[in-house]
Amino acid sequence: MTPVRVLAVASEIYPLVKTGGLADVTGALPGALQAEGIETRTLVPGYQQLLDMLGEADEVLKSPNWYGGSARILSASVAELDLFVLDAPHLFARPGNPYVSSDGVDWPDNARRFAALGRTAAAIGQGAIPAFVPHVVHAHDWQAALAPAFLHYSLRPRPGSIMTVHNLAYQGKFPLEMLSEIGLPQESFTIDGVEYYGGISFLKAGLQFADRITTVSPTYAREIQQGEAGMGFDGILRARSNVLSGILNGIDISEWDPAADPRITQPFSLTTLADRATNKTALQRRFGLPPSPDAFLLGVVSRLSWQKGLDLLLETLPHVLTEGVQIVLLGSGDSDLQEQFSAAAKSQPQQIGVFIGYDENLAHLIQAGSDALIVPSRFEPCGLTQLCALRYGAIPIVSRVGGLADTVIDANTAAIAENVATGFQFGPVTRPNLTEAIRRAKALFQDKPVWLRMQQNGMTVDVSWHNSARHYADLYRQVAKPD
Ligand code: ADP
Repeated sequence: MTPVRVLAVASEIYPLVKTGGLADVTGALPGALQAEGIETRTLVPGYQQLLDMLGEADEVLKSPNWYGGSARILSASVAELDLFVLDAPHLFARPGNPYVSSDGVDWPDNARRFAALGRTAAAIGQGAIPAFVPHVVHAHDWQAALAPAFLHYSLRPRPGSIMTVHNLAYQGKFPLEMLSEIGLPQESFTIDGVEYYGGISFLKAGLQFADRITTVSPTYAREIQQGEAGMGFDGILRARSNVLSGILNGIDISEWDPAADPRITQPFSLTTLADRATNKTALQRRFGLPPSPDAFLLGVVSRLSWQKGLDLLLETLPHVLTEGVQIVLLGSGDSDLQEQFSAAAKSQPQQIGVFIGYDENLAHLIQAGSDALIVPSRFEPCGLTQLCALRYGAIPIVSRVGGLADTVIDANTAAIAENVATGFQFGPVTRPNLTEAIRRAKALFQDKPVWLRMQQNGMTVDVSWHNSARHYADLYRQVAKPD
């Protein structure tokens, strides 16, 4: 079988640039797809930090004027990823976060920046780089979502296209005035095109014109076709439900391997689970908490945003932080939440530890040392931290939404009796239900044999990319345009 060539298009890719789960997915999927006979190249923006990590690169295409400045495409292989890098300094060579300036405000030219990304992808899709003409263009999230639209409005032969929604909340909305600047034809400004409440939505363009739409869990694929979870797109998603499917994310199991993780204090495995205790002590020390082996240690690794429901956790703390309960939180995001969690840690330093910021090493230690990981999201397309938790023997306590519902088996009486439980679910997402779930978890934490079996169950769940890669490969074969 000849390999299917796929051009993935994304604004983030681990380990080069990451603000969330999107980067984990785009960084891990190409490797997993190789085993399925899929050859992936990923087109990414040439942010300064990414260029700095690039090493040797070949210029494969050049344009003197691409969205207001000169641009070139570099071809490079880094960290086992085959990349095309859109090197356009006027758009991307800026320090820090890919989307916002240092004062937290969106870059004013984001429409132009990511239109350039989508249009470049369409050009490569249509043969601009003869050494790699893809059968499929796979766009991830709104930043890449104009690629299917540019392909649609072009008259030349085009590859198949897939749009993956990692989070419907990010829609790439811009004023109508941007339309001509981004290079889409006037005719695209209709309800069946990119028009969205009087403006433009990049995400809508992708949803409208891609041959297939995927999202990152089966439950989220259902949820977004209705009401609130659809965030304004439920109508179009229902209309396209025949091409919409949910494919669960995996995690990179070599990056997240408790038996060989250089980021944690003491590696451990299913057969040496007792060694995990060393990580718990290290974690408690790291956060200045009393290093008590018997304390019920809850962990959180998260963006701090409304989506993640951590305001509910704050409200719950007085109800669950009884003696013998500790909590550590690593996160950054909304300044209100940052301040409130920091204040909580200050007032109860023996029980609450908070680190505001982004720290990959600490994220691993929290997974390796916490007894349970809390993910109380109001909505969650897939969620990755609960998958890491399963693999690291931290029992997930999650809301019953999206991918959380699909990946955690609640420790109800039947599941415990059948020895299949892997965590705790609660719903609807309210403060009392979260409180109840934490209490339930604390009670079972005292039942050591059951707790140990749940840890073992979680650690044997296949959270790798293996199954999902097969699903993506099937989809690619369905839409691939022959050579
Ligand atoms: P989202 O993409 O919505 O932020 P996910 O659960 O899908 O949520 O993915 C989050 C990813 O980012 C995980 O790999 C998690 O470990 C990581 N992460 C989130 N916040 C932090 C942080 N403050 N420090 C380190 N890693 C973090």
